[in-house]
Amino acid sequence: MKIGVIAIQGDVEEHVIALEKTLAEREEKGAVVKIKHWGIVGSCDAIVIPGGESTTIGRLMEREGILPELKEAAEARKPILGTCAGMVLLAKEGDEEVAKTGQPLLGLMDVKVKRNAFGRQKESFEVPLKMSVFDELFHAVFIRAPAITQAAENVDVLATLEGHVVAAKQKNIISLSFHPELTEDRRIHHYFLDLL
Ligand code: GLN
Repeated sequence: MKIGVIAIQGDVEEHVIALEKTLAEREEKGAVVKIKHWGIVGSCDAIVIPGGESTTIGRLMEREGILPELKEAAEARKPILGTCAGMVLLAKEGDEEVAKTGQPLLGLMDVKVKRNAFGRQKESFEVPLKMSVFDELFHAVFIRAPAITQAAENVDVLATLEGHVVAAKQKNIISLSFHPELTEDRRIHHYFLDLL
């Protein structure tokens, strides 16, 4: 099994480590590889788009020819996990801030996202989050987090906070406002690999 992490900018290393630990916990043989350019996505079984700066990640993915490859991977039903900036990039539609920057979106999830949805004063915070797929609360770390403000009927809402959707799933694609790679709780990475 090969899992790719888009490694252009952002918390790449944290996802790589989290995925390696998850594979070890599952006693599955597999490699986690970093995707910096065209030609790697096709050989991966699952792909993570990490948090960071969605404008930078989007533009560089476009320049490196990764965007069409990710669309193909999604069509082939490969699991894709987008966290924070990754949530923005997966969306079909963005808010005015997204429109203003002209950043490319993958359009793989039928949702509208708002960047920095929780306000500037509340840049970073942590909350015990109720997620529909787990019995126990998930300690969620939010950093200048986006959120889903509108979702089509084919999108499963996995968690909400302050009236916004902060975790969602559409077929093989999972989108999160927060950073599961920054805590030791591996349940989300397991849930992601369960889609394989
Ligand atoms: N607000 C950032 C963006 O939209 C995302 C922040 C993050 O990934 N921690 O690019």
